[in-house]
Amino acid sequence: MTGGKRINLLNIEPAEAEVALREFAVSEGEAAYRGAQVARHLWASPAPEFAAMSDLPAGFRNQLAEHFDLPRLELTAEQASSDGTRKFLFRMADGQAIETVAIPEGKRVTLCVSSQAGCALRCAFCATGAMGFARNLETFEIAGQVRELALLDPPIRPTNVVFMGMGEPLMNWPAVSRTLTILNSPKGFQIGARHITLSTVGWLPGIEALEKRPEQFRLAISIHAPNDALRAELMPVNTKFPLDDVIASAARFSRRVTFEYVMLDGVNDADAHAEALAELARRCGAFVNLIPLHPGGSMGFRPSPAGRIAAFAARLRARRVEVAVRRSRGLDIAAACGQLRTERVRRRLPAGADDDREIHQPA
Ligand code: SAH
Repeated sequence: MTGGKRINLLNIEPAEAEVALREFAVSEGEAAYRGAQVARHLWASPAPEFAAMSDLPAGFRNQLAEHFDLPRLELTAEQASSDGTRKFLFRMADGQAIETVAIPEGKRVTLCVSSQAGCALRCAFCATGAMGFARNLETFEIAGQVRELALLDPPIRPTNVVFMGMGEPLMNWPAVSRTLTILNSPKGFQIGARHITLSTVGWLPGIEALEKRPEQFRLAISIHAPNDALRAELMPVNTKFPLDDVIASAARFSRRVTFEYVMLDGVNDADAHAEALAELARRCGAFVNLIPLHPGGSMGFRPSPAGRIAAFAARLRARRVEVAVRRSRGLDIAAACGQLRTERVRRRLPAGADDDREIHQPA
């Protein structure tokens, strides 16, 4: 090729890629259906590179590689938990590292994907927040996490995807929105919209943008405190988007919203907090997920004892709020937001500062 930039087929919507590929096939003297064949190898039946698309003529594969790009993410670390959870660290072309977690649960496999390298929001208990913001991920880097796992041998094929890895997905809306299309599309991963969940701190412009999509993508809102004073301490974003406005936007949302509430010992887990939270949940018909604090890298917070979590849940139920207590997964591999990358970065510190833990396998 003569200097022109190759088109990144993984950074555009599947339908758009297919049109470009059909036109390209015809311009190369091939039948248009060859373009559709290539398009299937982007997501639905992914191939690691053009050369591996063995159902295509070799000459055409070479032409494709000259005009188009199928960038890979480099898998630099993997950890497996005794509970089946697997955590992957990917390195981007510019050296940024992001995490993806695969959580098997019966017949389901949930992938937790990252939408940003780092995060600007600095929630007090979150390892990603502590590293600060590096940059938004591009579509091919978000959807690429799912693609890379589908390229493993044996492949990991998710039934569910949650945007609960590193970053605030609604602050990277254009790339996240295209990723939603790739995940859901019949020409993409074909995952039902109701099996795809965006988790947000309550970034209101993003909630409005999500609301405009016709598909039934699910929305989870990280509440974590039932009043502005405490919430602003735990989540600085609360000064920009206060709780009342977040709850109002949840009430306007056309689908049922889930509240996430991480249980912090002695901070947000008193009976009075449960009562105030019940009131908020009832205002917008939310379902409440109580999340035990994942202790790795949790900056001085302690998880609430199991009995306290149960009592808190009971108090919500008594106020007719639907509530689930999440099981913490991947506890032995620091699988919460940002924790693997934090561990790897720490490992590069001089000897002595190094916290070089092995994966803990319970006896
Ligand atoms: N920025 C988005 C999505 C990423 S975090 C959001 O905040 O919702 C996904 C969820 O993990 C959020 O509810 C976040 O508050 C929570 N989380 C972060 N650190 C955690 C930890 N150490 N233990 C348990 N949950 C944590």
